[in-house]
Amino acid sequence: MKSVAINGYGTIGKRVADAVAAQDDMKVIGVSKTRPNYEARSAVEEKGYDLYIGIPEREQQFKDAGIEIAGTVEDMIQKADIVVDCTPGNIGPKNLEMYKKEGVKAIYQGGEDHELTGLSFNSFANYDDSYGADYTRVVSCNTTGLTRTLHTIDPIVDIEKVRAVMVRRGSDPGEIKKGPINAIVPNPPKVPSHHGPDVKTVMGDIDVTTMALLVPTTLMHQHNLMIEINNTDVKTEDIIDALEKRSRVMVVDAGAGLGSTAELMEYAKELGRNRNDLYEIPVWRESINVVGNELYYMQAVHQESDVVPESIDAIRAMLEMESDNEKSIAKTNKAMGIL
Ligand code: NAD
Repeated sequence: MKSVAINGYGTIGKRVADAVAAQDDMKVIGVSKTRPNYEARSAVEEKGYDLYIGIPEREQQFKDAGIEIAGTVEDMIQKADIVVDCTPGNIGPKNLEMYKKEGVKAIYQGGEDHELTGLSFNSFANYDDSYGADYTRVVSCNTTGLTRTLHTIDPIVDIEKVRAVMVRRGSDPGEIKKGPINAIVPNPPKVPSHHGPDVKTVMGDIDVTTMALLVPTTLMHQHNLMIEINNTDVKTEDIIDALEKRSRVMVVDAGAGLGSTAELMEYAKELGRNRNDLYEIPVWRESINVVGNELYYMQAVHQESDVVPESIDAIRAMLEMESDNEKSIAKTNKAMGIL
């Protein structure tokens, strides 16, 4: 049973903690917060996690709020076999010094640059690269979504190049200080966006260029892919078949009432998962189309949750708990109820 610390208990961290707790080969040794808010209280009182504080000077604030703390982040990582760092992007470099000092392995999230660890992770594309590694980074929610489907179809179509337009949610549902609330924002207003280069950190020399927009929605991201393919014998049905067989991807029917991100999130509620999360990447069946040497499809990404199963597999790879990525994927999926 391996001990996992989760540093940063926000949107991603609280989901990673619950996903770790759902596995039978690892346990949550502690989670950390910087503020004594409702998430801190819930971590202790509802989930039963030991809570450590990220900013020791704030100990009195936690005491005043009546939230029990078990120590500082440094105390937490001393007890851990590995840390999953889920702090906001760009705090990583400072934390890396602490992890190195304490001699603990660490997994970062996509808000950090690939250069921080020199290694990035996706369960399907490059599990072996992080096997036994000390530091890696689970690529962002968008990059995870692109990689899941591109890695599934590449062996069938032999991708020549990918061009993709990413329509991104303006903020997560709980965030009140971000937007836009009434605009479509090219973000960045230049080409390419960072997503294409990020796919290359896990899929090698794939030719992929992306453009990205921010829109006023909080539910999901949405991607539009145009792919030049070398195997022109492939049929639309072959692509659908491959995507249907791949776990963590689901082919959905707009005609069955799933024609939007809003309906997909309603469907996620029907599935009855923890926090109504949709870990799989939904691809719209009607959008999948092979025309000559081009393949088109549209997909969505539940940004709050798709990277969570990947973080669990990254733990197994780095702690050398399972050498076969497919076995780790299957184990994680089973524990989390993922299709
Ligand atoms: P968040 O702001 O929701 O949560 C971050 C948490 O870290 C908060 O609980 C905060 O209190 C805590 N924190 C802040 N500073 C800290 C410190 N110095 N020490 C310990 N804890 C600290 O952020 P998030 O959305 O969960 O993002 C975390 C990481 O995951 C980022 O790298 C982000 O880019 C990445 N990510 C986010 C999403 C998403 O859509 N939210 C999707 C995929 C990846």
